[in-house]
Amino acid sequence: MISRIDLRGAAGRAVLDSPAALRDVMPRAEFDVEAALEKVRPICDDVRHRGVEALIEITERFDGVRLTDIRVPTEAIDRALAELDPKVRAALEETIRRARIVHRDQRRTDVTTQVAPGGTVTERWLPVERVGLYVPGGLAVYPSSVVMNVVPAQEAGVTSLAVSSPPQSEFGGLPHPTILAACALLGVDEVYAVGGAQAIAMFAYGAGSCDPVNLVTGPGNIYVASAKRLLKGRIGIDSEAGPTEIAVLADATADPVHVASDLISQAEHDTLAASVLVTDSPELADAVEAELKAQVAATKHVERVTTALGGRQSGLVLVDSVDDGLKVVDAYAAEHLEIQTADASAVAARVRNAGAIFVGPWAPVSLGDYCAGSNHVLPTGGCACHSSGLSVQSFLRGIHVIDYSESALAEVAHHVVTLAEAEDLPGHGAAIKARFGWAVPE
Ligand code: NAD
Repeated sequence: MISRIDLRGAAGRAVLDSPAALRDVMPRAEFDVEAALEKVRPICDDVRHRGVEALIEITERFDGVRLTDIRVPTEAIDRALAELDPKVRAALEETIRRARIVHRDQRRTDVTTQVAPGGTVTERWLPVERVGLYVPGGLAVYPSSVVMNVVPAQEAGVTSLAVSSPPQSEFGGLPHPTILAACALLGVDEVYAVGGAQAIAMFAYGAGSCDPVNLVTGPGNIYVASAKRLLKGRIGIDSEAGPTEIAVLADATADPVHVASDLISQAEHDTLAASVLVTDSPELADAVEAELKAQVAATKHVERVTTALGGRQSGLVLVDSVDDGLKVVDAYAAEHLEIQTADASAVAARVRNAGAIFVGPWAPVSLGDYCAGSNHVLPTGGCACHSSGLSVQSFLRGIHVIDYSESALAEVAHHVVTLAEAEDLPGHGAAIKARFGWAVPE
């Protein structure tokens, strides 16, 4: 059911030696954000012009729920926490605790650089003022994504923070109660029962009780990603985190039972989810394939997993060596990369492109999805070669503060004037000369 890509021998070498050819040959989901723009643009325009009325109609169309109010009442959030299973509460609290200590260490401090006597540049870090955090809730519900969005925002010092998640018909048109309980545990009381592109438009333009935000973060399906791309500029966005991906770089020392279960764990998210094994061991590939058959038959979301593993985005990639495997995983730039080889730490240290790296047999992606302390909102679709996962940094802006005395400006004035003339922008030079009696200081 899972396809194979053979990059061994001379033919494989030709592909491995060309990063572009390697990218082309690697399995990847059909996730055409551009194509979805056509569908998403009228949704966003409608929300922009008709606000809550549009949100109610669109939600009825796509979520089958007729909202009376887009905002979740505080009592519903409190009730969700009161009724939360104590075991789930304990797990969420531990997730929050671990995420908080990791993200707290990511805080930035202002840095002042003395460029010249009397001349300093300070980089001042300020939190974004108001953020909208999207928590998916279509195929699966993600209270863990509440934690992964809210904790870095709070640790960055964001003071105005709203969460939106799709309404669920079986819960009276509110977001899933565990999502609401996670909001309560984090002290978030501004929550909207809106999903998809319409939620991103609500955040961008504002609607009803939801004031416009400056930044939207959080993963979602193609409509969410497409709306983020469309509205980028009006709002800041994090990466377009799309269908989840796992790549496992493994050698003959890996346990096929673990590898197969990890591949299934991510395939369970979405029919478009990608599960990729890269190995120099044909025996391991055979054993993993056999394990996949056995474990998929017993898994709960069997149809979703089967579609994801059988899709063009998933595959077993055979290479001649772990070194070649590193080339493959770097070209693929997976959202999640597991290293299950001998000396996994040394191999992991050589990886250049990945959203997050999970080292050795005791750090499966599931750990990172919930309780590692790391963030699970990570770049997908190869974006890990230029983007990072969500962090405190995502919610900060660095402002350069330039403070020069007269003598410090005088010292460099002639260079400024020279460069202004070289760019044929004499007004720039004049702004310097005007301060020194219209002459360049000697
Ligand atoms: P979602 O909340 O992103 O989308 C559900 C919404 O889509 C619904 O509320 C509905 O309004 C809208 N919608 C449904 N059909 C539509 C249509 N035909 N046209 C317009 N809008 C429509 O939930 P999801 O669908 O389950 O997707 C979640 C995604 O997020 C998955 O792909 C999952 O893998 C991914 N995810 C990624 C990360 C990450 O960090 N990269 C983490 C968690 C989840």
